[in-house]
Amino acid sequence: MPLPDLTPDHLVVLAFGPGIGELILVRVPPDAWMVVDGCGAGEACYAVEALTHYGARPRIVLLTHPHEDHSLGVAKVIDIWTPRDRKETWPRIGMVLPPGDDVAARSADFMGGATLQAIAAVESRWKESPACRWEVNVGDLELLGNAALRVLSPRADVRAEKIEQWRMGRTFNKNVISTALLLSWHKRRILLGSDLVEEPGNGWSHSLVLDPDLGDHDLLKVPHHGSDAALHDDVLRPRIRVPDPLRIFAPFSRKRLPKFSPGVGANRVVSHGGTSYLTGLPRRHEEQSGRIEARTLTELQAHGAIKFNPVTSFFPDCYVLVSIPPDGGPPLIEQGPGSIHVVSPSGEASP
Ligand SMILES: [Zn+2]
Repeated sequence: MPLPDLTPDHLVVLAFGPGIGELILVRVPPDAWMVVDGCGAGEACYAVEALTHYGARPRIVLLTHPHEDHSLGVAKVIDIWTPRDRKETWPRIGMVLPPGDDVAARSADFMGGATLQAIAAVESRWKESPACRWEVNVGDLELLGNAALRVLSPRADVRAEKIEQWRMGRTFNKNVISTALLLSWHKRRILLGSDLVEEPGNGWSHSLVLDPDLGDHDLLKVPHHGSDAALHDDVLRPRIRVPDPLRIFAPFSRKRLPKFSPGVGANRVVSHGGTSYLTGLPRRHEEQSGRIEARTLTELQAHGAIKFNPVTSFFPDCYVLVSIPPDGGPPLIEQGPGSIHVVSPSGEASP
């Protein structure tokens, strides 16, 4: 099953994960692409495969935070799309810059190989071509085609404090300095939650000061794989303009996120309404479904017991593609094999 064709005038959001990782691709029509984080399985770097499939060149590449499950393949994307002889074609490259330049110190801070590679790739391009440098300061507005991106986090003082802790060699939860983005296009609002958490750090409370209407969105990439610590009810409560927003979870297998027990995680998100999709289950990539799935929350609560046959045949899998028309019509959803539509017990869309 190849990746779906894209409708030329639609905004497209394509979420992948896991192989290992979480990748969001956004295409603002006709051809302004953004790569947020990364994901891979087997030999495949999903961003490279998908961009190549669509004949795309990224205009923006963003590493939301220095965690291994978001870094996979980011260095490869940067390597391919920053040709030395054509710097004018380079994407803007965004990252919260870690302190110092001591790779050993960074490794000591439990940073994995993909993360170190991603950071090194970003830093080297920033040096070679300062025009590509995007420091992702909170409040920044960046254009992606005719869409506007706004940086929602981390708040400047939190960022400064955490970078200082980092410089001093103290460990802290890097999700606190995760870059969440709001993309506005025509009257649509797409909230890309990255791994920004509410606890610790009050990340979503801070972002809600910047934009009190974050609950007014057409699509939410649920923050931090739907962990309860990342959820804020004011972000999840649908507003009048979009009574049935889309929610996409990219699971995190090692930490078994999201959880599905009553009142927390995915269950809490679904209880607010909207329509929810998972790009896969919180399990190893090899054990993801080879089919498009629809499951109830009750089934998902016992997801460990679900056995798929066939299992995934790898890329392109574990994705949800959302295609949004410019005129206000309903978004169209295409699920890849392995992805799950969360349905109510009657088999209809989630309440
Ligand atoms: Zn993560």
